[in-house]
Amino acid sequence: MRASRLLLATLKETPADAEIVSHQLMLRAGMIRKVAAGIYNLLPLGLRVVRKIEQIVREEMNRSGAQELLMPAVQPAELWQESGRWVEYGPELQRFKDRHQRDFCLGPTHEEVVTNIVRTEIKSYRQLPLNLYHIQTKFRDEIRPRFGVMRAREFIMKDAYSFDVDLDGLQASYEKMYQAYGRIFSRCGLEFRAVSADSGAIGGSTSHEFHVLAESGEDAIAVCCQCAYAANVELAVAVTTDSERPTPLHELQAVDTPEQHTVGSVASFLKIPTSKVAKTLLVRSSDGGAVALILRGDHELNAVKAEKLPEVAKPLEFIQPDEVTRVAGCDVGSIGPRDLDICVIADNAAAMMSDFVCGANTNNRHLTGVNWGRDLSEPRTADIRKVVAGDPCPESCGKAGAVLEIKRGIEVGHVFQLGTKYSESMNASCLDDQGESVTIQMGCYGIGITRVAAAIIEQYHDENGIIWPDGVAPFEVVIAPIGMKKSESVNDVSERVYTKLQDAGFDVLIDDRNERPGVMFAELDLIGVPHRLVIGDRGIKNGVIEYKHRGSSEVQELPVDDIVETLKTLKDNR
Ligand code: ATP
Ligand code: MG
Repeated sequence: MRASRLLLATLKETPADAEIVSHQLMLRAGMIRKVAAGIYNLLPLGLRVVRKIEQIVREEMNRSGAQELLMPAVQPAELWQESGRWVEYGPELQRFKDRHQRDFCLGPTHEEVVTNIVRTEIKSYRQLPLNLYHIQTKFRDEIRPRFGVMRAREFIMKDAYSFDVDLDGLQASYEKMYQAYGRIFSRCGLEFRAVSADSGAIGGSTSHEFHVLAESGEDAIAVCCQCAYAANVELAVAVTTDSERPTPLHELQAVDTPEQHTVGSVASFLKIPTSKVAKTLLVRSSDGGAVALILRGDHELNAVKAEKLPEVAKPLEFIQPDEVTRVAGCDVGSIGPRDLDICVIADNAAAMMSDFVCGANTNNRHLTGVNWGRDLSEPRTADIRKVVAGDPCPESCGKAGAVLEIKRGIEVGHVFQLGTKYSESMNASCLDDQGESVTIQMGCYGIGITRVAAAIIEQYHDENGIIWPDGVAPFEVVIAPIGMKKSESVNDVSERVYTKLQDAGFDVLIDDRNERPGVMFAELDLIGVPHRLVIGDRGIKNGVIEYKHRGSSEVQELPVDDIVETLKTLKDNR
């Protein structure tokens, strides 16, 4: 490709509304342009990267035995009514009517459409296992589109769906996808973790998210510093270090705590650490009343875990102040578990506290020296807190110092064992080897293609721009001639090298615009082509071309005559 013909839409200034580095650089390098909130043009340079990622995804999906097809973006309401999601799916589902007043939606995902194919085409276990995928445009009317294509409304996804006759088959299909995802993200050059996205409550892990580790990530994930354990913070199991409760040393006492309404202020007023204060939260119970959830003052409630308790109403709802007064006899800042006439559930760590402080259920009063079993009944216990950095690894990998770290992650992929969720409601069944009709077992597997492009930039950039890994770069090599229009030999050598590299299969850009070297290098650094060849009169006299990798400051001289072979070797050795 000739730079003079390429739509190089680079920007010098960082656009003010772009918060994270990938969004800024995608705009500055001329990869994307906004059309409306969460809706973008992919300019030629952006599309080149997207196509490279798609190619990696395709190759690995095909290698794992999956087949590509293409399903439409527009889907009829009837299919969604059958699965029940026409009602269940929130406002993210973009619904509309056609001219005949028939209901349609823009597909945010394709379980219904693909299940409809399979229930019609598949009759026998002999046709299974089957894995169908497509790479296609999705629409989700996200409440807060942001960070460019990272969280867009219209974006490109690879979604695959597996179909098996039984659970063993589903697990095997899932495992294949899990492995393929590892290969895909590695080939994209990404540092990633497969994160357990299932509580394990129904036995085994039935879902994993693939996260790219980056400061700008929207998800918090807990990872073990020693083993492969990684889980979304919402689900990570909290392990309590204390195995036994310390013996009580103090008498129960009521103390005045005027105007002290928070754990922090009570702790500093009484000159104790927040870990000695029990925090009491009143939430709606499943029977419409209230439940008290008790946490250690330095811990935070994990709503996802709490909602899973049978006593607690889902979605989690905090009791309003006037009802708190009715239930506890005081304002929110003075509630405590003693003498409460409702169900009390203590987090495992809170249940290990002794001689602790809690609200006295009287305004501006707290109790000190409180002990479970002695001053109030033993509570029901459960894991309801968010894990924190330094918590022991729940996998008990046994390695010394195996503690959790909290990292930020960008979810680039998701694999999920659906089981019969869609095949049952939509009647997708087939005959098994006994001639019996069985409901087909399904799995679904997504990768956000456009989000992957952004995630790569989050991991590969410096102050001058993007540094593309080879496999996903818009161009692998760029030829930067110095004074091409003035020097015949520069022009000749550049054109010859350009042709040779193209013939050898390199994806090559030649900067034939006759820009000043400083301007040209700055622009090439911004768009991040990994391998740069500078061709100038001085080098030609010595039979050499200057080579520099975008990620290194080292300049090498390569022989003009052997340029193809030398470049191949350099590339392979990186
Ligand atoms: P998130 O929690 O980030 O909203 P999700 O759980 O809704 O993601 P899935 O339904 O599992 O995502 O979709 C599969 C993949 O599609 C995700 O792993 C992600 O990479 C990508 N994706 C989802 N929503 C968006 C979006 N709004 N913009 C870009 N990519 C997205
Ligand atoms: Mg989402």
